[in-house]
Amino acid sequence: MTLVVFGSVNMDLVSRTPRLPAPGETLIGSDFYTTPGGKGANQAVAIARLGLPTHLVGRVGNDAFGPELLAALGQAGVDTRGVVVDDSVHSGVAVITVADTGENQIIGVLGANDRLDQTDIQRLERYLPAADLLLLQLEIPLAIAQAAAQTAKQAGVKVMLDPAPVPPESLISLYPWVDFLLPNEVEASQLVGFPVTSPATAAQAAAHLHQQGANTVIIKLGAQGAYCATPTNSFFVPAFAVTAIDTVAAGDAFAGGFAAAIAQSLSLIQAVHWGCAAGALATTQVGAQTAMPDRATFDSFLAQH
Ligand code: ADP
Repeated sequence: MTLVVFGSVNMDLVSRTPRLPAPGETLIGSDFYTTPGGKGANQAVAIARLGLPTHLVGRVGNDAFGPELLAALGQAGVDTRGVVVDDSVHSGVAVITVADTGENQIIGVLGANDRLDQTDIQRLERYLPAADLLLLQLEIPLAIAQAAAQTAKQAGVKVMLDPAPVPPESLISLYPWVDFLLPNEVEASQLVGFPVTSPATAAQAAAHLHQQGANTVIIKLGAQGAYCATPTNSFFVPAFAVTAIDTVAAGDAFAGGFAAAIAQSLSLIQAVHWGCAAGALATTQVGAQTAMPDRATFDSFLAQH
């Protein structure tokens, strides 16, 4: 089993402040750290930490973050030979302010992730013959995400799409190339145009997406769990009861757990269970990539539940 992730690699730059600054105001913060992120990288780490061979195809930029991001991925066990350094641009970053008041502000600058083009599709093609599943997210140009999905599908590789962030353009032309569509509540609401907040509204959303041509839809419902519907069958998996301390990247952990199960030919219901388990475990740890469970933790959690 081999999985390929085609997507974004970011460095998160996080400042802690007493409150959010007003426009034009300079505030002195109390803490600062950098931590690797990006949905593509997070999902690759989530799978690799579960012990499955994982290739990432993408780009980092010409700054000090590039080598640091590659090193973090390598340490987690991700094969980064498909990630190139783009000398013409900075690495993707997210500039994040977390205020003591609990509010936050995030500016994402796609940088190298926004430069993905046909040459990246050619690199992707090298990994497809041995791949079972391709994971896509939308922190890269939409046309290239679509090309990646088509290329994988035509090579007989299953495609999973985490439609985040939802772009202003319609995703309908992408649906026929996607086997598994995994929005969270916010993304599902944006895709269908009505609020999705519960298993009942998730069922309505899935029916709407099926009408638009989507295949299997898995709607992540945060602390409620996840709702899954194929065009002919549906089920809801309640969330595992855990003490959540930080829900950052729970969705990326879900994607990793789900993908690992699908690549191992487990059933759809088992795959949603694996997704929920990985998502729940990620909420018990702080951070994004640092919160992804390793295989031993994951197996013992599943055995206990
Ligand atoms: P995203 O991070 O994309 O917004 P969610 O917040 O829906 O995604 O989380 C993904 C999955 O992680 C959920 O479907 C659920 O299974 C699990 N999860 C999230 N929050 C919790 C929680 N507080 N307790 C248990 N599981 C959770």
